[in-house]
Amino acid sequence: MGKVRREKWSNEFSEWYNEILETAGIIDKRYPVKGMNVWLPYGLRIMRNIEAFIRAEMERTGHDEVLFPALIPETEFQKEAEHIKGFEDEVYWVTHAGLDPLDVRLILRPTSETAMYSMFSLWIRSHADLPFKVYQIVNVYRYETKHTRPLIRVREISRFFEAHTAHADFEDAERQVKEDLEIFDRLAKFLALPYIISKRPEWDKFPGAYYSLGAEIMMPDGRTLQIGTMHNYRQNFARAYDIKYETETGEHEYVHQTTFGMSERLLAAVISVHGDDNGMVLPPTIAPIQVVIVPIPKKDASVDVFAYAREIAEELRKAGFRVHVDERDIRPGRKYYDWELRGVPLRIEVGPRDVEGRKAVIARRDTMEKFTVERENVVEDVRKTLDEIHENLYNRAKEFLEGHIKRVDTIEEAKEVFEDRRGIVEIPWCGSEECGLKMEEELDAKMLGVPYPEEKAKAPEGKRCPVCGREAKFMARFARTY
Ligand SMILES: [Zn+2]
Repeated sequence: MGKVRREKWSNEFSEWYNEILETAGIIDKRYPVKGMNVWLPYGLRIMRNIEAFIRAEMERTGHDEVLFPALIPETEFQKEAEHIKGFEDEVYWVTHAGLDPLDVRLILRPTSETAMYSMFSLWIRSHADLPFKVYQIVNVYRYETKHTRPLIRVREISRFFEAHTAHADFEDAERQVKEDLEIFDRLAKFLALPYIISKRPEWDKFPGAYYSLGAEIMMPDGRTLQIGTMHNYRQNFARAYDIKYETETGEHEYVHQTTFGMSERLLAAVISVHGDDNGMVLPPTIAPIQVVIVPIPKKDASVDVFAYAREIAEELRKAGFRVHVDERDIRPGRKYYDWELRGVPLRIEVGPRDVEGRKAVIARRDTMEKFTVERENVVEDVRKTLDEIHENLYNRAKEFLEGHIKRVDTIEEAKEVFEDRRGIVEIPWCGSEECGLKMEEELDAKMLGVPYPEEKAKAPEGKRCPVCGREAKFMARFARTY
């Protein structure tokens, strides 16, 4: 029986991550533009499975899909002051068409608020048009100056998901944020990813937002990765882009808006959180191949292991599973290695003795355990085992996340956490920006914000802000982040 090893995964995570993306066929980062990568077929297939779930959720909740141009005129981009400030140093400019300079320069979208909202102001007319809910999955461009990392920090986000909604009032926009959180929760369960939600501090909210929420997961090295954001814009963008509707009583009011964003970081999270030293471990829900069958022929055996393997595969396919029979003429050990690397959740091995005894050997990728099952029970046992794998992945990751969240009272204690095993620390905080920024500096960490929903954010009675000594209002979360 194999053993789960996580030494490299845990101690040299960066190397592990880069190596896996390449060897498992996710991304080729040798493309000659820094921070822009080529998606390989296997990686794209996994990402498409994630997207299919998101699209289904969007449909279920009444969002329509749209597709906006990638270019935005400078004049539109500049309408919301904070938004420009937040993005101006990271946009790519299109300044020429052929040899001629453009009258109005264009930017490559870093996100689509400024592309969409001038159109929203044409489309939204009356209260009957509200709530208005659309989404798109497109590529966006950001000139990242920090160290780039495939799927995590890139200059072309290839699979940027953004939902944009407009509402009659603040309460309805708040309902939308709640719905976004529910959708996110379902997606996270689908990916077996435990997460935390924090309300970002004022100085770190989305440029132009009234408030921002961020969803984080825990990476193997104790740093957090933001994999989803939800923003309530109130009427900030509606005022800048003149998005008004006629109320039932004939008045004209600005709409309230929200957005919800995710990207290929979801895939980065799945790969990082569930992996081990042998490679990826994919949740069965998104694995392009859920079951790989490896026939093990023996010289002079009188039975046909290939026919037996194909027969099992056919039965599993009929039951709805994604199955592959590996009939390559190479040693079985080499095949195991390949499919373990690629994270196939379950492997079935069949040799002559299995054919004779009407049996099969099942190997789990998550625990590396092997066991023998009866031929006639294969479909049921596969179904049961895949469910167990998904559950085990989620529980293992949840334990890891929870084991990396620590409550402390002082800066010194927080520093110890970051020096030791890292993770997330929750510190009492008075709520002032000055103290928050001071803590960020002292800890060399980012304030993720306060726990959300807000009931969870309150500091226990008697806790004091370690910077100013005043009574703490909140428990603030800090982490080293990607
Ligand atoms: Zn303070």
